[in-house]
Parts: sequence; C-alpha cells; structure tokens
Amino acid sequence: MTDQSAGDIDIEKFEVLLSAGQIETRITEMAEVISKDYRGKRPLLIGILKGAVIFLSDLIRSLTVPLEIDFIAVSSYGDATASSGVVRILKDLEQSIQGKDVLIVEDIVDTGLTLNYLVENLGSRQPNSLKVVTLLDKPDRRKVKFEPDYCGFIIPDRFVIGYGLDYGEDYRQLSDLRVLND
Ligand code: 5GP
Repeated sequence: MTDQSAGDIDIEKFEVLLSAGQIETRITEMAEVISKDYRGKRPLLIGILKGAVIFLSDLIRSLTVPLEIDFIAVSSYGDATASSGVVRILKDLEQSIQGKDVLIVEDIVDTGLTLNYLVENLGSRQPNSLKVVTLLDKPDRRKVKFEPDYCGFIIPDRFVIGYGLDYGEDYRQLSDLRVLND
C-alpha cells in the first residue's frame, strides 16, 4: 500500500530477503526434524531476547513433543549495527537447567560471540544436553568458531530486519525478513 497514514512505517523501501511463506515452510521442516530428535524427551527451549521471540513462538507451535520455554537476555549491539564483542547477561533464566535437555533458540548467528558465550555459560550449569537452533546464519561474519545444531537459512553478509529482528528497536513486527539499506 502506498497510501499510508502518517506514522505508519514504510517497509516498501527494504528489499525482501525471505518471505513470510518461505520462513513458515522452513520452520515446519525444522520442527519435524527437532521433534524427531527429541522424541521421548521434554526439551527446555531457551529464547534469546528479544530477537528470537517470533521465531520461538512459531517454532514451538510446530513441535510435537512436550516442552517448556524460558528466556535469557544478553547484551549485543545496542542500537548500532556493529558488534561490540562484549557479551553480558541482562536477564537470566527463571530456573535451574540441571539435567534438562536444553535447546537454545536464536534468531541469527553473526560473529558467533553471543552463542559461543551462552553455550559455555549454560553448559557449565550441567544440562543433560545442550543444542542450538538458529533461524538465520551469516557464516561469513564469524569471529569465533561456532556451528549451530539446526539452522533455517544461511544468508549473505547483509544487515537484516523483520521477523523479530530490529534496527534500533524498529521493524521487529514485519512478517518477512528484509535487508536494511546502507
Ligand atoms: P553475534 O554474537 O553472533 O555476533 O550476534 C548475534 C546477535 O546480533 C543476534 O542475536 C542479533 O541480535 C544481532 N544481529 C546480528 N546480525 C544481525 C542482523 O543482520 N540484523 C539484526 N537486526 N540483528 C543482527
């Protein structure tokens, strides 16, 4: 729509990288694999705030195993698009993960610093198992060696917005994934 009322966001200027339909189809496929891998278990899915909330909520509705959810918030980029390299827990889990089958749910792996830190931190809390699922992966940007267990899409080195991902807290509500222009 071009006739937007004042205050509406203008998303047409951002190129679509992945449509809502493509994302939905891929999440259904991922959920099938994950449900199979966790059959007979009751995984605890840990969403990384805030970017992963949309992915987590769509993913869990396609999973067929019983599960629990919790959230953790870590500092990352602030309001800029360049990584600071410093990871800090801003909001911790509400429960012990000892003996649990933990699946960390992330929106995007970029430098790998966030997940590298979280896997080490959560791994030290003695879960029964610890895996990572990410919707998006930008392997070209890695600063540390990190490989997610499940990945939705490998994408090029572009800054993306939508489907939970923000730019200065804007655009999380877009149902497709778009590229932020320079
Ligand atoms: P890493 O620690 O792997 O460099 O960064 C992970 C975090 O950086 C993600 O959870 C996300 O918040 C942010 N990030 C990395 N790349 C992008 C991107 O292309 N768009 C947005 N909106 N955030 C990104």
